[in-house]
Amino acid sequence: MKILCVGGAGYIGSFVARGLHSKGYQVEVLDNLSSGHRAALFTEIKLHHIDYGEVSEEFLSGFNYFILLAGKIRVDESMDNPWLYWHENVFKLANFLDKIPQDSVVIYSSSAAVYKPKNHPLKESDYLGPSSVYGATKAAAESLIEHLALDKNKIRAICLRYFNAAGASADGKFGEDHSPETHLIPLLCKFALGQTERFVIFGDDWETADGTCVRDFIHVEDLAAAHILALEFLKKSDARFEVINLGAGTGFSVKQVISELETILQRKLKIEVSAKRPGDVPFLVADIQKAKDLLNWSPSFTLSDILKSALQFHKSKPTGYPDFDS
Ligand code: UDP
Repeated sequence: MKILCVGGAGYIGSFVARGLHSKGYQVEVLDNLSSGHRAALFTEIKLHHIDYGEVSEEFLSGFNYFILLAGKIRVDESMDNPWLYWHENVFKLANFLDKIPQDSVVIYSSSAAVYKPKNHPLKESDYLGPSSVYGATKAAAESLIEHLALDKNKIRAICLRYFNAAGASADGKFGEDHSPETHLIPLLCKFALGQTERFVIFGDDWETADGTCVRDFIHVEDLAAAHILALEFLKKSDARFEVINLGAGTGFSVKQVISELETILQRKLKIEVSAKRPGDVPFLVADIQKAKDLLNWSPSFTLSDILKSALQFHKSKPTGYPDFDS
């Protein structure tokens, strides 16, 4: 297996690349470092500093397994600049997939944002209907991959639909560093540590038990482990195309996350409430039976583990990873 981890210097990608490397797999990373960090990787992991839209067929012929995590990930940005999201997440992906060798294996990082969540927990077979441009580009990418796997017989692939990835490595050395940061758990941790001045809940009048949105938080280490199992599954089987949810299978509301953090800190946080954020949905909780059955995977970390590890990362790196990425 010669594995190329595309977007492997990003938050989730770097956990996947380090996980593969630690287990002795031959893995290299391709990343344009627009949001990823060289410091998120071990120095022994080879990093190709190139945009995934600009790689050559010749370069790609050196690999037969591709983990595709590159792309834009912000719902709000996708609503403001749809073209950027179609370009980065779909057009570049189509070109990239056109260039990879026949019979490659692909693991694609998709998202719970593809669903129209009418019920919960959500099964892979449930109705799709993205509420954001970001989600629409993820659904389009899944269709493209399915077409190449089932109609063109070019690749075999698994699309992993991530729910809410969060947390850091147990030693607090590696974690979430986005700029700007928009995600709940890092923003809450940074606020609790006094690194930011405010924390605002986006709406407390949703149709949920406490009025705040419910999400399914999955530890990034659990998520990374599932990628390795997905690679192994495709290596051992002749499966052509699968879509698999990756979450913890349990929902927590924004207020419940805050309360869990307050329990860890043993103090109350002064939280504000604003209007709802465009593109949000009240519930996103995964049914993870398929991941258990097919990959023999199940999550091992709790919400408390996620919060404690994230706190440690933000405490040790208040300004994120060192900036030597250019
Ligand atoms: N959220 C919030 N305040 C923040 C950031 C997020 O209330 O400063 C809420 C957001 O509205 C959503 C949940 O936290 O209901 C998770 O948001 P996040 O951006 O982390 O992930 P998403 O579910 O959008 O992928």
